[in-house]
Amino acid sequence: MESETLKKKETRLLTVSDAEKDSDALRTAGQIIRQGGLVALPTETVYGLGANALNPQAVKNIFLAKGRPQDNPLIIHLEDASQAQLYAKNIPPVYYELCRRFSPGPLTVILPKKDVIPPETSGGLDTVAIRIPAHPAARAIIHWARVPVAAPSANLSGSPSPTTAQHCIHDLWGKVDAIVDAGECSVGLESTVISLAGEKPILLRPGAITPQMLREVLPELVIHEAVTQKLANGIRADSPGMKYKHYAPKAQITILDADSEEFVEYVNSHAKEGLFALCFAEDIDGLKVPYVSLGKDEADQAKKLFAALRELDERGAKQVYARCPSKEGVGLAVYNRLIRAAAYHEFAPQDEEE
Ligand code: AMP
Ligand code: MG
Repeated sequence: MESETLKKKETRLLTVSDAEKDSDALRTAGQIIRQGGLVALPTETVYGLGANALNPQAVKNIFLAKGRPQDNPLIIHLEDASQAQLYAKNIPPVYYELCRRFSPGPLTVILPKKDVIPPETSGGLDTVAIRIPAHPAARAIIHWARVPVAAPSANLSGSPSPTTAQHCIHDLWGKVDAIVDAGECSVGLESTVISLAGEKPILLRPGAITPQMLREVLPELVIHEAVTQKLANGIRADSPGMKYKHYAPKAQITILDADSEEFVEYVNSHAKEGLFALCFAEDIDGLKVPYVSLGKDEADQAKKLFAALRELDERGAKQVYARCPSKEGVGLAVYNRLIRAAAYHEFAPQDEEE
């Protein structure tokens, strides 16, 4: 019987200021993965917790370190789209067209898997999720690992995804072999996930590669209803990650579908101890309660959301009113993460009184 607990590990912090200059650190990180270890590593989306995707025990250790449910499959990260055929079969030509446009980058594609991918990695499914990351440090680590790198977000399951090495240190110190620090992630939200393994291409998780961008290559792309709504009872989760509560800080979050003026007025008139606003830059001047700002536009909001959710916990927020992001472009991805953090609590102050 294999042990179900993870032994305490001596974690090394490897700092990378310039991927080319720090090639020793990146080579070391790759070798740790190759030898079956766990490395928290930077990508352009969020920090990932990397292990050899072909090594069932290394993959099991990812689940143990995160406390992740075993049926929630992992994305494998490759250096180049041409390697996809080693791990996936029946790859439609449109996969390569997508890769020409969006890879390397924040796009994950689900394809039928080959047997070489163990069930531990695919959560027992007959498909595999593949991404080619753009971050130079991630690419160098995969290069030195010389194996596909399975990497979910490097947070404890249920906490916001990590966008800095400090977040990884907070969640995983003593549980992983190394944490590679290359500063803040540029996108800040996990990759867009689409499936090409079913009858029609379907968007399972929105990200920085938006539906509008994808439809240039996949005009028939369907958006799964769970992207913007709670998965109804009895509906199959096409992506197991959809059914789990995510990103939840300790505070109760309520999303207010309001313009700046309505938002500020509603929040100020409900001021009480422990109440915070999760707002946009334009709301700051009017607010009379403590706040965390997500900044100006959708790209800012994407980059700051997860750090903001962690900051609300650190500052002891008990209740949070969050301004509703636009559902356009990358705003759809921000909204998708925020409604999960809010356990789907949302209302428009002009329609109802609490
Ligand atoms: P994370 O690893 O935290 O970025 O989450 C990866 C997401 O991709 C989760 O929501 C998974 O359920 C989803 N995913 C990974 N592999 C598959 C797959 N083969 N089929 C469907 N969804 C997948
Ligand atoms: Mg995650």
